[in-house]
Amino acid sequence: MRNKLAINGGPKAVPDGTVKRWPPIDDVDRRMVLASLEGDNHAFGPNCVAFEQEFAAWNGNRYAITTNSGTAALHMAVVACDCQAGDEVLVPAYSWSSSATCVLHHNCIPVFVDIDFDTMNMDVEKIEDAITPRTKAIMAVHLHGLPMDMGRVMEIAEDHDLKVIEDACQAHGARYKGRKVGTLGHCAAFSFNQNKVLCSGEGGMFVTDDEEMLAKAKQLWSFGETRSPVESRDYHAYALGWMYRNNDLTAAFGRAQLRKLDRYLSEQRRNALRLAECLEDVPNLILPQEPHGYDHNWYNYTIRFDVEALGHRHDAAAFRKRIVKALTAEGVETGIWQSFILPAMTVFQARNGYGRGCPWGCPHARPVAYDVHAYPVAQRHCDTHTGMTTPLRSPNGPEVAELMAEGIRKVMENIDQLGP
Ligand SMILES: *Cc1c(COP(=O)(O)O)cnc(C)c1O
Repeated sequence: MRNKLAINGGPKAVPDGTVKRWPPIDDVDRRMVLASLEGDNHAFGPNCVAFEQEFAAWNGNRYAITTNSGTAALHMAVVACDCQAGDEVLVPAYSWSSSATCVLHHNCIPVFVDIDFDTMNMDVEKIEDAITPRTKAIMAVHLHGLPMDMGRVMEIAEDHDLKVIEDACQAHGARYKGRKVGTLGHCAAFSFNQNKVLCSGEGGMFVTDDEEMLAKAKQLWSFGETRSPVESRDYHAYALGWMYRNNDLTAAFGRAQLRKLDRYLSEQRRNALRLAECLEDVPNLILPQEPHGYDHNWYNYTIRFDVEALGHRHDAAAFRKRIVKALTAEGVETGIWQSFILPAMTVFQARNGYGRGCPWGCPHARPVAYDVHAYPVAQRHCDTHTGMTTPLRSPNGPEVAELMAEGIRKVMENIDQLGP
């Protein structure tokens, strides 16, 4: 009876109300956000300037530009790499959609590379096959907080004269050989969306150590102007520009959360390692890895179900959905992060971003095909994963991780109750 799954009417493994919500808010947040509200600059104000300086110092970058989203920062990165109409950018076949659509935003063409199953990141062995004379940059996504093999990526980039953009939107504080992400490529983007480990509601940061890239990114960021809003402006559009600036209230919230980020990250690490310990001997799970020389930030603790061993290779995604439903019924908070690999998404299949087949139909573009069967590893990962975020975040402690593990164990040890 105790082992009867909650989805079949048994008792829940995790009591209601166990998981505390993200992010924790305290007097530092209240004081800083209210001070901004009482100030007289609600657009790009003093908190924006301070946020840029503090984030650059925290991460170890020379320059930072705060934006209204991570996607904006990614678009700025594409421009900073001097990508021009029809140029190609290599993107992992599995990521958030905007790792690829930011490329379209500048009339450039994403070319997908399959992922490595163990790390879930772009497979460095498959990068060189995807390089063409039009390739300009590599989008190095540090998925779920595990850095890419940046040593190999930078080597390939040097050999082929490519730029490297780090999509560090999930990877704040993660390290490769001791160095923080965002300092390893030529430029990088971070996100401060609600679900990220640094939350300001929405928001982002473009970072680089290169003065020329900074200038290119800045022009795009603010109406194509060449001057920053804190200098005296001449209100002249020197080039094509967007409006990607952050606002003062959001930056104040981001600054307050940044002060607590190192503590959040160490709590998240402790909780993830506790979960890993508890799950070690649970059957039919493939647990995430932290290879030697890599520091995961455990943004998203992603489990894969061993569908082959479970006899569900042919209906993997559907069977996974049933397991996740059973986990949810137990009170285990996990979620399917992406149901589609990127090349299968309609915008790429239709090859129609701006109407009339642009940018793929642009005279400067080389024809590309998005064969959905060409990325079997990304597809296998996509069909078999589920991920955990909030239960492992501050202010939740290791006891929450233990309860999550108990729920997962219960479902996996009684999986026959889900039927054939
Ligand atoms: C969240 C995310 C983005 C986009 O960031 P936004 O702030 O939501 O625009 C890009 N790439 C990855 C990998 C992300 O997780």
